[in-house]
Parts: sequence; C-alpha cells; structure tokens
Amino acid sequence: MAKIRWLKPQFVESMPDSLEDGIFYISEKYRIALHNCACGCGREVSTPLGPTEFSVRVDNGAVTVRPSIGNHDYPCRSHYLITDGGIDWAGAMSREAIQAGRDHDRLLKRGAPQKRTIFEWLKDIWAGIRNYFK
Ligand SMILES: [Zn+2]
Repeated sequence: MAKIRWLKPQFVESMPDSLEDGIFYISEKYRIALHNCACGCGREVSTPLGPTEFSVRVDNGAVTVRPSIGNHDYPCRSHYLITDGGIDWAGAMSREAIQAGRDHDRLLKRGAPQKRTIFEWLKDIWAGIRNYFK
C-alpha cells in the first residue's frame, strides 16, 4: 500500500470502470469526482460536487478540493486535504470526535436532549479536538 502523494485531475464525461491511483476524475456532467483513496488502500472515494458539497478547482493542471476528505467509514479512516494536487495528511479523526460531531449535528437539528449538561458536551468536544491534532 503506497501512499499517493499527488493527484492529477482528469476531466471525464462518465467514470471509468476502474480508477488509476493518482488520478482525480472529475465529471462535470454528473457533478461528481472520484479518486482512489490517497492512503493506497485502493478504495474509491466519491466526492459529490456542489455548493453544499465539495468544491473542486483546477489551476494550471493542479487540483484543489475543499473541504478535506475524510474517509471515516473506511478501515483506513484516512483524512486529507488536496491542495494544488498535493495531499496534506490531516490525521485520522478519532471515533469519539466523529461521534461528537454527529451528536452535535443531531443536537442542532432536533434541539438539545436534556440528559447531558453543557459541561459534558464541552468536555467531549475538547477531547475530540485534542485527538484530532494528535
Ligand atoms: Zn484508504
């Protein structure tokens, strides 16, 4: 499993059956981009494109993707940022941090459950942030 260091953008109409490592496939028609996970595990990572999803910019043949790509549901749990074609590793997010994020989303959507205090929330979020930068 070799880590991929650079991704080259390739504009396609529809996606090929198998992806090549190191290529970032972009289909403007289907508003989606695909690439093989940069950790080298060979899994396909799909990034839907759109104002509330991922934004992809290509400058002088170098691709930049925002926000970061977090493959939390894959065994490798890799997390990286693609900037000017280069991979910046962000470190694996811990389960707790992901869970804290999800709980937080739920909280925003449904209103606060009453069984936890704000202090406990802050403690969890702080633990998540610390793990994130480990
Ligand atoms: Zn991977």
